[in-house]
Amino acid sequence: MLATDARVTPSPLTQLSEEERMFQATVRKFARERIAPHVRSMDEAGVFRKDILRECFELGLMGIDIPEEYGGQGGYFFQSILAIEEIARVDPSAAVIIDVQNTLFNNAILRWANEEQKRKYLPRLSKDTVASYALSEAGSGSDAFALSTRAVDAGAHYKLNGRKLWITNAAESGLFLLFANVNPEAGYKGITAFLIERDSPGFQIGKKEDKLGIRASSTCELILDDCLVPKANVIGEIGKGYKIAIETLNEGRIGIGAQMAGLAQGALDHALAYAKQRKQFGKTIAEFQGVQFDLAEMAVEVEATRLMVYNAARLRDAGLPFITEAAMCKYFASQVAERTASRAIEVLGGVGFTKDYPVEKLFRDSKIGRIYEGTSNMQRVTIAKQWLDRK
Ligand SMILES: Cc1cc2nc3c(=O)[nH]c(=O)nc-3n(C[C@H](O)[C@H](O)[C@H](O)COP(=O)(O)OP(=O)(O)OC[C@H]3O[C@@H](n4cnc5c(N)ncnc54)[C@H](O)[C@@H]3O)c2cc1C
Repeated sequence: MLATDARVTPSPLTQLSEEERMFQATVRKFARERIAPHVRSMDEAGVFRKDILRECFELGLMGIDIPEEYGGQGGYFFQSILAIEEIARVDPSAAVIIDVQNTLFNNAILRWANEEQKRKYLPRLSKDTVASYALSEAGSGSDAFALSTRAVDAGAHYKLNGRKLWITNAAESGLFLLFANVNPEAGYKGITAFLIERDSPGFQIGKKEDKLGIRASSTCELILDDCLVPKANVIGEIGKGYKIAIETLNEGRIGIGAQMAGLAQGALDHALAYAKQRKQFGKTIAEFQGVQFDLAEMAVEVEATRLMVYNAARLRDAGLPFITEAAMCKYFASQVAERTASRAIEVLGGVGFTKDYPVEKLFRDSKIGRIYEGTSNMQRVTIAKQWLDRK
């Protein structure tokens, strides 16, 4: 059979279906017209605008792969990746809000919640409720399963005590997927996932962090003092929270890869535009080979990143193994984002170093890619283990 036979030749990774192209174009327009004008002020204020958040819901960006019967868009994981990438090109803070909602929270509910829980929560998540994913604590970051938040059986409820740290979206969220241990003697096999409403008794949002980058995305502490959570709000099985945490994070990493790919593309966009209009020595700087070579290298790395991210996402949607590819794409994308934003600053020269141009912010935003949803070292641990275990 010929290699060009349409029945056997898989599509090129960056070839989008008609539906995906239209979706991408809609998100791109929204990012450029509605988000871009506010990026600097939101970064300075450290607050995400409520009107833009509302528009994210109206556009369906907060419930991309929630089935239509629950009020969502009926899309799939790769579409979330496209949306995160497009939004991050303009504002990585906005992208992570959408990322956590879709790839971590909604994803966990779709996979592990029972039908009653889905009917209760998915319509809210599609319509107007922001959500958070609360695993990390002060004493347990990379060693996530050493978490010390405890849940004790209290009849119709569980009573939770502890603190969570670094929780994205917490200032805006109405719902929290929170991991606590019901049986510390069992170690990680006591970890259980709870769905917590913001107004639950004993639940409070604590300090909001003042950060280097992604400043418009809120990151807060959560305080649980005898917090009462109905037993009906346990997600999945008791003691199986570790599985929910691992599996959602494996997928979430592709979302962070997409955020970093979009960020890198955004930095390249600014460098290209500036190089074509900035004149020195009587020519645009884009006419100098030294600048062209920089731009070319940036473009190569952005393309390689996008291929890795799309491949991991397409593997996930196809039901094929993707854990190594997800770790690789996040690891590589966060490096490329940092490098591309840094080089973009240099292409812009002095103005690149100021807040009047967006590349300074993209550089600050890039740093988080190496930290959350597993640091670069933790990705290297995953990648090395998978390769060493290969027969
Ligand atoms: C802005 C922001 C948003 C976040 N959002 C969320 C969220 O929504 N939900 C949530 O649950 N968490 C969230 N986090 C937490 C994030 O996932 C953790 O910060 C991250 O996992 C690292 O944990 P740590 O900060 O405790 O660092 P540590 O685990 O203390 O790591 C410190 C350093 O030691 C290295 N290290 C640790 N262990 C090893 C090892 N075994 N081998 C080699 N090196 C190692 C790390 O790579 C790192 O360089 C967020 C964090 C930030 C900063």
